[in-house]
Amino acid sequence: MPSSFSSPLAEALAPGLLERFERYVRIESTAARSRTGSPSTPGQLEMGRLLVDELLAAGLQDAFLDDNGYVVATLPATVEDAPVIGLVAHVDTSPDAPGGGVEPLVHRDYDGGVIQLPRGDTVLDPATVSGLAAKAGHDIVTSSGDTLLGADDKAGVAEIMTAVAHLAAHPELPRPTLRICFTPDEEIGEGATLFDVARFGAFCAYTMDGSEAGELQDETFTAAEVTLTIDGVDIHPGFAKGILVNAARLAARIVAALPSDRLTPETTEEREGYIHPYALGGDAQRSTVTMIVRDFDDDLLQQHIDLIRSTAEEVVGAEPRARLEVDVHHQYPNMKAHLAPFPEVVEAAERAIAAEGLEPRRTVIRGGTDGSRLSAMGLPTPNIFTGGHEFHSVREWASLQDMASAAAVIVRLAEAWTQDDLRSAAARSGAGATAA
Ligand SMILES: [Zn+2]
Repeated sequence: MPSSFSSPLAEALAPGLLERFERYVRIESTAARSRTGSPSTPGQLEMGRLLVDELLAAGLQDAFLDDNGYVVATLPATVEDAPVIGLVAHVDTSPDAPGGGVEPLVHRDYDGGVIQLPRGDTVLDPATVSGLAAKAGHDIVTSSGDTLLGADDKAGVAEIMTAVAHLAAHPELPRPTLRICFTPDEEIGEGATLFDVARFGAFCAYTMDGSEAGELQDETFTAAEVTLTIDGVDIHPGFAKGILVNAARLAARIVAALPSDRLTPETTEEREGYIHPYALGGDAQRSTVTMIVRDFDDDLLQQHIDLIRSTAEEVVGAEPRARLEVDVHHQYPNMKAHLAPFPEVVEAAERAIAAEGLEPRRTVIRGGTDGSRLSAMGLPTPNIFTGGHEFHSVREWASLQDMASAAAVIVRLAEAWTQDDLRSAAARSGAGATAA
């Protein structure tokens, strides 16, 4: 029977990878949206301390956890004059689904049918769960049904740890200096906030935070958040005639006046952007509407913001005693423009994925990654698949074979960066550190 692994290397890495993954997902490291310090929750520090111990045990002598919850470590090169390459994954999990008490289940040699999980009436039906049917014959990892799995992004963490331990144990394999960083609070958009790009000192980096095997992502949304604050005039409703200006009603009118048959998350896909009012609050005196705005094109993003502004001004402007405040907060940029000057960064990843026997596929992310902001901060950082799916939900699942492919891709990526053409392309770009 043919192996379901993409290579003998992937097959060899799988047992250690699964052991790490099952250990990491049991640690509750859910990020909290309201954060007063970094990281937002203590479980992320527990993850960080564990990873430092394991990096030290693997021989990465400088591994440390900084005050903000970032783990940083170095695996020295075995080849001279190659650029320093970064590997990045995040230790937190999404606050959108329960992340405590995760009990991973391994469904060995998946038969392609419906997977019924023991808790929470959770069912993974290949008819509705995208990509699952194609994984017949794989070992599928799920939660027990009442929590997320945490493959986002503990699959990425486990893949980096497995690949780095393998490389450290095999100094005969060619590799550049690898810098490893595990970040906190990616899920609340803060993973890059306190990332010290200068201290990291890499030419480029790769987040291991994608999904389907073979995928490589070099383009994300550009993202903004718009908050509208509407002030009305409140009074006892019994005496309100001609006096009351109801801010809650104005807020509802603004939302109703925005397009609902287009430009929404539920009516768009692929490269289409959207306006998403996700929080409405307040009372007759003061109400707020909070919306996220997304597009791959910066000009279109600005048009969406302008549409929100003109719609709100028209609705509120019809009532002279009401006041409107529009607050626009830019969240993260599309990484594409920041990667464009360094085509060798994506080229190296494609070469590594192909060397693992997979077909490299460039796709866009309808969201952001740590790499969106890191790329803008001067560290070009595309995103590589992890083998996990249905993130942020109790149906989250991962293929062990695909996770093992991702770990093997990291080993091959290290080798790719020792090849002459990529090394000299990086040297010509002149943007980053090289180290022997
Ligand atoms: Zn993630």
